[in-house]
Amino acid sequence: MRKPLLAGNWKMYKTPADTKAFFEKFIPLVAASAHAEVAICPPFVAIAAAVDAAAGSNVGVGGQDCYWTNKEGAFTGEVSPAMLKAAGCEWVIIGHSERRQFFGETDESVCKKTVAAIEAGLRPIVCVGELLEERESGRTNDVLKTQFDGGMAPLTAEQFAQIVIAYEPVWAIGTGKVATPEIAEDAHKVIRSLVEAKSGKTAADAVRILYGGSVKPDNVKGLMAQPDIDGALVGGASLKAEDFAGVVNF
Ligand code: PEP
Repeated sequence: MRKPLLAGNWKMYKTPADTKAFFEKFIPLVAASAHAEVAICPPFVAIAAAVDAAAGSNVGVGGQDCYWTNKEGAFTGEVSPAMLKAAGCEWVIIGHSERRQFFGETDESVCKKTVAAIEAGLRPIVCVGELLEERESGRTNDVLKTQFDGGMAPLTAEQFAQIVIAYEPVWAIGTGKVATPEIAEDAHKVIRSLVEAKSGKTAADAVRILYGGSVKPDNVKGLMAQPDIDGALVGGASLKAEDFAGVVNF
């Protein structure tokens, strides 16, 4: 049985004060949500506030990106997985499409970051997903395979067992155009079959694959009813405590 994971990606929203206010509202709304794991990934500067506010609750905290080694060094602007761990994070998002589109993230850097995050004791949420033109030209499965082969396939079986995969079709992120449960399920099946081909059925059955892209309280139930959808990575709807609690309590 794969326990659902509902993770919020706050992107570049919320100050430490906003974070404190969010958690004050949110924690009571999900305190009884034992059916799922819950995580919030705030901007780096709000992680300390989130960790403080989430202490003793069932909500974990994560980063939205990390550097690809844990050794300290002259890398201005970067934050290592070990630093995230020391700050109280459990999770880290890696390879989000906004990092790929705007900040030069590649499958190779995704792989290096994922390994470094696992070495630091974090649980990486590794994102894949196709652009609209790639879907429209029938290349979705090829894109998923390329991203999987470059970003995750090099992991050892032990490393692979630590990751969560997020399928996020880029055309559905922040657009309000959620994938239908059937479209999402098809892609999740493809990803699970890639895992099976590389690592066998036990690994494929165990890995959680989240859907991300315009998930809201009113569409989460249909997505979660699909056999291969094990949770959601949520942007916009994770910014309001009531909305994200509605997603968590699908
Ligand atoms: C995301 O940022 O990962 C995301 C899925 O955003 P949204 O839910 O706003 O589409």
